[in-house]
Amino acid sequence: MIEGSTNSATQNIPFRIREYDVAIAGGGLAGLALGIQCAQAGYRTILFEKEKYPFHKVCGEYISAESWNFLEELGVPLSQMNLPIIRRLLVTAPNGKELRQNLPLGGFGISRYKLDAMLADIARQNGVELIESTKVDGIKFGNEVFSLQSFGGSYHAKVVVGAFGKRTNLDVRWSRKFILKKHNKLNNYMGVKYHIKTSWPEDLIALHNFENGYCGISKIEENKYCFCYLTAAKNLERWGNSIPEMEKQVLCRNRHLKMIFENAEKLSQSPVTISQISFDKKEQIHNHVLLVGDAAGMIAPLCGNGMSMALHGSKIAFEQINLFLQNKIARWQMEENYVSAWKKQFSGRLRTGRMVQRFFGSALLSDILISVLKPFPGITNKLISETHGQPF
Ligand SMILES: Cc1cc2nc3c(=O)[nH]c(=O)nc-3n(C[C@H](O)[C@H](O)[C@H](O)COP(=O)(O)OP(=O)(O)OC[C@H]3O[C@@H](n4cnc5c(N)ncnc54)[C@H](O)[C@@H]3O)c2cc1C
Repeated sequence: MIEGSTNSATQNIPFRIREYDVAIAGGGLAGLALGIQCAQAGYRTILFEKEKYPFHKVCGEYISAESWNFLEELGVPLSQMNLPIIRRLLVTAPNGKELRQNLPLGGFGISRYKLDAMLADIARQNGVELIESTKVDGIKFGNEVFSLQSFGGSYHAKVVVGAFGKRTNLDVRWSRKFILKKHNKLNNYMGVKYHIKTSWPEDLIALHNFENGYCGISKIEENKYCFCYLTAAKNLERWGNSIPEMEKQVLCRNRHLKMIFENAEKLSQSPVTISQISFDKKEQIHNHVLLVGDAAGMIAPLCGNGMSMALHGSKIAFEQINLFLQNKIARWQMEENYVSAWKKQFSGRLRTGRMVQRFFGSALLSDILISVLKPFPGITNKLISETHGQPF
């Protein structure tokens, strides 16, 4: 560690410079999974997370089974956790019309509160220097070294990875293209999540449509359920920015949702919320920073595959970072290989996800979609498979 001068902004705090092989901004699934792989391979790894574990996140908390083996390899003992295994899907239109389907691969339920904190513990045990409650404010690259700024000081690393999720201060600072886009059909959504107690089949995930949005419900650990919805921001504006009013006036028009609102016990006073969600295309590299997870591209939540893409993306990134740090490939090759492997694995899923997203949230279109798909389970299966991958 090099102790340097003092930072003018933080007068009396020593300005510390530390050297790392890998620095990661953001400790969600992508960042934590990558940190663990890097530390297990013996690389000096630092990870910054702006929140403090455990904490709640807006997410439907249904993980496609394709991630099961990978999470166990990282050290999450899923087999011993008695988690709900989900094999069936129910989709309803705002008018209540139903479509039922078995899920080709299926998945399981676990809260982000629990999963992210478990991964954070595993990361620490493997030697990742995990800096919580610390936001990365800037990342610069020059002379083959990154310098990364946070309130606590400045850090140097050979490789920096942005795993900061859907939208963050760095996206704005870097003026990323998706930030500069005007509002369109794919970029102005908000998410709302509750944990609830209710009566619902353990192996069933439902996706209930309402005007300008859809809501998922499925079981997680300890007999709790995740109840999470995505809606166009205009829906909330229309109801005076009141979530309870929007739920009453819009969501409850779908009788399936009305029943849940009337019978469930909410486990916290207010929901977790996020806004300004965009499904527009993103780049996978910014000024030599490798981007993983939602920072590289976000799939529509109705596909239930964002978490697996974040985890799988970390594996793809690690393979290239490992080769680079072993001096087997140059930086430009690491970047090119990463982008092409990422696109090969995920571009098709994102495309299908965007297409399906357009159908959901429209009362008429979701009704038509359900009517058309109902007699053809093979097509529904194909659509689901197109937005999912295989175990990795
Ligand atoms: C409504 C909704 C429902 C969803 N439902 C599902 C589902 O059921 N199944 C599924 O598979 N996917 C679902 N997803 C998608 C899934 O949540 C994401 O794809 C997944 O969380 C991406 O992981 P990540 O690690 O890229 O990002 P995140 O999990 O968002 O992690 C990013 C982390 O970076 C931190 N951070 C941000 N900026 C900084 C900074 N400057 N410095 C330090 N830290 C920073 C954040 O605090 C955060 O912890 C859903 C998404 C939404 C919006």
